[in-house]
Amino acid sequence: MSLTVKILIGLAVGAITGIIFNIFAPDAFQYVDTYFFDPIGSTFLNLIMMIVVPLVFFSIALGAAGMGDPKKLGRIGGKTVGFFLITTAIALAIGLSIALIVQPGDEGLLGEADESYTAEEAPPIMETITNIIPSNPIGAMAEGDMLQIIAFSLFVGIALAILGDKVKGITKLFEQGNEIMMYLVGIIMKVAPYGAGALLASALGDAGIAAMSSLAMYMLCVVGALIIHSAITYGGAVSIFGRMNPIKFYKGFFPAIAMGFSLSSSNGTLPVSMKSAQENLGVSKQVSSFVQPLGATINMDGTAIMQAIATVFIAQVYGQALSVPDLLTIVLTATLASIGTAGVPGVGMIMLAMVLTSVGLPPEGIALVIGVDRILDMIRTSVNITGDAVCAVILDHSERKNGHIDDDDSDMQATS
Ligand code: ASP
Repeated sequence: MSLTVKILIGLAVGAITGIIFNIFAPDAFQYVDTYFFDPIGSTFLNLIMMIVVPLVFFSIALGAAGMGDPKKLGRIGGKTVGFFLITTAIALAIGLSIALIVQPGDEGLLGEADESYTAEEAPPIMETITNIIPSNPIGAMAEGDMLQIIAFSLFVGIALAILGDKVKGITKLFEQGNEIMMYLVGIIMKVAPYGAGALLASALGDAGIAAMSSLAMYMLCVVGALIIHSAITYGGAVSIFGRMNPIKFYKGFFPAIAMGFSLSSSNGTLPVSMKSAQENLGVSKQVSSFVQPLGATINMDGTAIMQAIATVFIAQVYGQALSVPDLLTIVLTATLASIGTAGVPGVGMIMLAMVLTSVGLPPEGIALVIGVDRILDMIRTSVNITGDAVCAVILDHSERKNGHIDDDDSDMQATS
């Protein structure tokens, strides 16, 4: 049985178990969750997170070193960021259109506005920018601050490239370090069906069906927009610009999608996303190891979709009309908010405060949607990481077409 099938079975068993507990035995669930689902899920999460920081460091440093000259790094970096921005803008257009057409907030949900929520403050954008360079790289690694780790790794990678033979020992060491991390991902994936199932049982047992049904329209809009974006924007982009059959793409990338779904963390999913892209989709290590860590940190189309729809929904519930300039403000701030969202569970909800205040809505409006966010976080995280893989496939294709990737760069070939 393939890993994909095993993970699917794990997810199905987890979902059914969680829902049964939620409906028939909510009290027993607390006990079972504390002593069974949560320990299994958390151990699995820790196993995966254990790999992330060293993997990002090794792979970005090597990715930058492998590009050799800064011009190549600039070209790939520019194309990557350009792709991320365009797809996020499309995601927002889809999300806003659906929310404006369906008007999920007209369903008379005002009652839930009584729930209180103290919005955490989203960090100011200038602070986010100046903080990209870590004053203490070890501190950044200890804290798991992805943007800072990426910045430091890029500097190290550029130095490796420029110093060349002088530091070939360290380069070799990093290559072997990378090799070890990738090997560990393979091992950890063997327990993924159990870990993913336990995480899902824990989430569904906790979130419950009742919360979901009262926000059904909002959820439907978000899920609908995520599906449309994945099928049309990603499917189209991968086949037109990446010359890959979307079915082959989704099949090969499925282990990562399932992992993103159960972990709700782009960063946590990174080891599996990179492995799936390199081994199943044939993306060169060089492109994958640069594009995917960067994307897991700054490219969050799924989060942007949720933020756009949640803003329209909250505006409707509060009875505030949104003008065209308001909609443009939403596009701008949701793009920034999704860039600033860390690839860990639930942060997209906190960054929603930034979008709400930009159009004069109270951040407490988050109380309206937070009840179902655990579930939506799972789905949007899968979309977030899929967007990064689409970019990697397309860039890899264009680099190969232009002869910028030699065959020995792509020592991992497609296996499916
Ligand atoms: N959990 C999401 C991710 O890691 C971020 C979010 O929207 O909360 O991609």
